Amino acid sequence: MTSLEIRDLGVVFSGKEILSGLNLNVSSGSYAAILGPSGCGKTTLLRSIAGLITPASGTIRFGKQLVSVSSLVLPPHKRNIGYVPQEGGLFPHLTVGDNVGFALSRDLDKEEKSSIVDEMLKLVGLEGFNSRRPHQLSGGQQTRVALARALAMKPAMVLLDEPFAALDQTLRTEISEEVVALLKATKTTTIMVTHDREDALVSADLIALMRSGQVVQSGAPTQVYSAPISAEVAQSTGDIVTLPAYMSADQRIYSPLHSSSSNFDPNGELLIRPEEIHISAVSQPAGKNQVKAAISKINYYGHDALIELKLEGWELPLRARVTGNIDFRLGQAVYAELQGPLRWVPRKATHQ
Ligand code: ATP
Repeated sequence: MTSLEIRDLGVVFSGKEILSGLNLNVSSGSYAAILGPSGCGKTTLLRSIAGLITPASGTIRFGKQLVSVSSLVLPPHKRNIGYVPQEGGLFPHLTVGDNVGFALSRDLDKEEKSSIVDEMLKLVGLEGFNSRRPHQLSGGQQTRVALARALAMKPAMVLLDEPFAALDQTLRTEISEEVVALLKATKTTTIMVTHDREDALVSADLIALMRSGQVVQSGAPTQVYSAPISAEVAQSTGDIVTLPAYMSADQRIYSPLHSSSSNFDPNGELLIRPEEIHISAVSQPAGKNQVKAAISKINYYGHDALIELKLEGWELPLRARVTGNIDFRLGQAVYAELQGPLRWVPRKATHQ
């Protein structure tokens, strides 16, 4: 295992900056998820770490070793990295055993190689699958073979590019839990690229949120979820509601779910997660910040529902998340109350 430190990384393709001024620190043995929208540069970052791309600027260090700086780029096979590209990248004409043993050192004899292959297949729960070919495996099994191949060289770091994207929801949860447990048990430093926020929140010790070629925020899952730096970034990790806020002549703040005389940011708006808005059919005795509202839409998901509300005196609709017994109906009059922190973020041009 090794730590990863990236400073001011820049990558240019055909004169266009794909990554610029990108910084990232991942400590040794931890599991990091790179989360961001399509095209923001996640795969480019992963390929730069693997040594498959020559950056235009910046440095990449594995522990104390400088592996990428303008004058020197250590080739991929000297980086001690296991890389699992999108769709696994198995060789279709080779057996599972030969795929797993493909990158093992030529200095090893046949028995040594086959013992490592067996050990790796056992590790990923595919003991005895040696002679099958990739087309005889399910998508989840192919992912595990690709992982076994990456782990066979006992790499210091594993890079996973959307490893679970091709799997259906049930298989995805199952396989991703197995793979994450395996990588954490072997204390392998892991960088996983994903655009699936749940994958990132569930598995990672560290989430790095990317936008337009840069890491704009990084931290533990609870930190990036509860203290986002902007509404845009907050949307990467979950649903949001943004509320305008005004200060009146009497120096009080007025916002759809809040009025107070402290903590006003004139350039900001309030950012709320839908689960922080509590609604009830009857007025609560202690609820002095309750606002009357009418239910204008219900999106029912089984375990919870997103309920759209029109608040009395305000134009904009907002969404509350309701769990448990969801017995609200369309058009019903309810009371809404903010039960979360006052989170100010820079004002966006438009609202939800
Ligand atoms: P996705 O989630 O869709 O896989 P991503 O965040 O991984 O996207 P990248 O694959 O890193 O994004 O691509 C970032 C940008 O760089 C895109 O605009 C893409 O078109 C461009 N790009 C990637 N590879 C090349 C290349 N070899 N030559 C030119 N442009 C490229």
